[in-house]
Amino acid sequence: MKFAVQPTGTPVDAEARAEILANPAFGKVFTDHMVTAEFSVAEGWHDARLEAYGPVSVDPASVVLHYGQTVFEGLKAYQQPDGGVALFRPERNAARMAASCRRLALPEVPEESFVEACKLLVTTDKDWVPSGEGASLYLRPFVWATEIGLGVRPSDTALFQLIASPSGNYFSGPLRPVSLWLSQEYTRAAPGGTGAAKCGGNYAASLVAQQEAIANGCDQVVFLDAVEHRWLEELGGMNIFLVMDDGRLVTPDVSGTILEGITRDSIVTIARELGHEVEERKVDVDEWRKGAVDGSVVEVFACGTAAVITPIGALRWPGGEAVAGSGEPGEITMKLRKALMDIQYGRAEDPHGWVTRVC
Ligand SMILES: *Cc1c(COP(=O)(O)O)cnc(C)c1O
Repeated sequence: MKFAVQPTGTPVDAEARAEILANPAFGKVFTDHMVTAEFSVAEGWHDARLEAYGPVSVDPASVVLHYGQTVFEGLKAYQQPDGGVALFRPERNAARMAASCRRLALPEVPEESFVEACKLLVTTDKDWVPSGEGASLYLRPFVWATEIGLGVRPSDTALFQLIASPSGNYFSGPLRPVSLWLSQEYTRAAPGGTGAAKCGGNYAASLVAQQEAIANGCDQVVFLDAVEHRWLEELGGMNIFLVMDDGRLVTPDVSGTILEGITRDSIVTIARELGHEVEERKVDVDEWRKGAVDGSVVEVFACGTAAVITPIGALRWPGGEAVAGSGEPGEITMKLRKALMDIQYGRAEDPHGWVTRVC
């Protein structure tokens, strides 16, 4: 893909931008530009461009609106100590989006073009990267089916788009443990399904369970496996770890029904380097429930790009509750969070080459 650059004639003025950056809400305001590339079976990817951010016109019969043929990614650009900007493992997002496209029968965005698009947008809208602890520019690449027609088959045309939104701390205020509702009725993904793909449909299917969590006084929902209703999977949009009293970390293995988080993978690596044993395996939810009572599970946390690492307090289900440890953010949870953020924000060494300097 070759990106034509067509800068906006009407960027947001510096004063208005400064006001937005002082207090950015997650995913509500977008930068001056976006990237778009078009796909057709006949022409392949073409007309790739960076242009002014703005609405696109959608035919009501577009495939995406009816059959949900769409995938997305999420990654962040972090301001570095010298004022430059870096991405964190963007090539992993590129590879994962290609895999998601394959699962949803969408055309794959070439991985190097994905990374190039991210670099181009971040460089162009560099002034939109917020500074401050936990702040970043959130990048949202996505591919969607644009063919017009109600016949059920893969769309012959698609758009790749990339937009960016300045974000502050995902959960504002001091880090507060979140409570989880253990979904009894709903599952997120089944073997052979789309659980390992980052597709809109997975999120659509999780919303009613999230509503149920809120109705039961919890912040988020955690899902069990679809077959035995016994094995921990993940939250609606985050992976999960248990910390044991001997310092071991335990996390569900990526068996095809959970989304393989890049944060998850980074934490596995960092934790091992810090001397923790990490077990990636099936995790019985009763290991958590019993462990919270007998003291063998001392901390629980969730992780993902948007919120980095979020401490988990209570696990609740109809008529019951389990709280691992003190219910406050745990020591190992916070240590791992700091170690990961220090790499992302360029405050620590980057022995794995995870950080890609953009500008
Ligand atoms: C995106 C996502 C995650 C986290 O992945 P990261 O690469 O760490 O951001 C976890 N679970 C689901 C369902 C997701 O969509």
